[in-house]
Amino acid sequence: MPIQNRFADLHPEITEWRRHLHTIPELQFDLPKTAADVEARLREIGVDTLETGVAQTGMVAVIKGKIDTSGRVIGLRADMDALPIAEIADVDYPSTHEGNMHACGHDGHTAMLLGAAKYLAETRNFDGTAVLFFQPAEEGGGGGRVMVEEGVMDRYGVQEVYGMHNMPGMETGHFAIRPGALMAAADEVWITITGQGGHAAAPHEAIDPNVAAAHVILALQSIVSRNVDPLKDAVVSICQMSNDSGAINIIPQEVKLGGTVRTLASDVRDLVEARITLLATRTAEAYGCTAEVNYMRGYPVTENSSDETEHAAKVARDVAGDALVDGNTAPIMAGEDFSYMLEARPGAYIFLGNGEVGATVHHPAYVFNDDIIPSGCAWFAGMIETRMPAA
Ligand SMILES: [Zn+2]
Ligand SMILES: [Zn+2]
Repeated sequence: MPIQNRFADLHPEITEWRRHLHTIPELQFDLPKTAADVEARLREIGVDTLETGVAQTGMVAVIKGKIDTSGRVIGLRADMDALPIAEIADVDYPSTHEGNMHACGHDGHTAMLLGAAKYLAETRNFDGTAVLFFQPAEEGGGGGRVMVEEGVMDRYGVQEVYGMHNMPGMETGHFAIRPGALMAAADEVWITITGQGGHAAAPHEAIDPNVAAAHVILALQSIVSRNVDPLKDAVVSICQMSNDSGAINIIPQEVKLGGTVRTLASDVRDLVEARITLLATRTAEAYGCTAEVNYMRGYPVTENSSDETEHAAKVARDVAGDALVDGNTAPIMAGEDFSYMLEARPGAYIFLGNGEVGATVHHPAYVFNDDIIPSGCAWFAGMIETRMPAA
């Protein structure tokens, strides 16, 4: 039976799996109910081996093809964690964990990879080995990095790795991918500016760190506009500002700024880090203050390797038809910790259109579109069948 027909049959069942996961959203590495649910499904599906407790609550499942003359091993990855967002979406399977919500659709990613697992374990129509990664802590915890550090790529002999994310606002069932940088490096920056507190009515006797902080924020705007090559991409957003003033008539001692930096190339990343440090310290100094900059590198660039991307796009065209696949989509400046798996092995990350559902990911009204399940499952399974053909 062709892949698409089989997933049309499995669609109601996989939708039920997805909706159940949606009711039990858990955060970061702490996914006891989610992991137990995924483990039970994988055991029922009948994968060949299952390793649990990877990166605390992650799992690695292995499905062998009907033959293994190729010696090929391909990894597929889904993320399982949710977000600390109180759901307002109008669904009849709401979150039962107050304050938590599957607002990024990782319930959908997990269910689609489980669906592919069910099909692959049933059919085994490939020559080689499929390795399925179910990872915790994509939303800031670096669960993908921890899995790589715990040695999953070497332990299972994975040669290539593939992942997928749903994309609200992109038409239902469309695919988008590009070779090279698809998503940004996401770094965190904290700047502490210290002056000398005092009475607001006697500013000349104090050193006001608020004024210095205001100038630092403005100075940082010059990095993207004046230092970064106009044909390259960067974002510097200072989003948090706090101080230790308890009242409107107290000049504080200290101001803390927090923000994020997004880049698509390592030379730009280095440049932005260096400019932030210099501009913050020297600007603060000019106003009689000191600045301490703590620049923390987060997720690296999600970099698709070219051969694997071409193949991923071909499988997407098999699933959706030529017209619905954009093989050279624009990159986005969000970060993604599948980047660590792509640093460890060649592979590709692809977007699957979630349709016009009214809210983007990370919004309390976001809804994963269950209509895309067969496409996502067929792409995952198709990567295995066509990258390691049995015939
Ligand atoms: Zn997210
Ligand atoms: Zn996500």
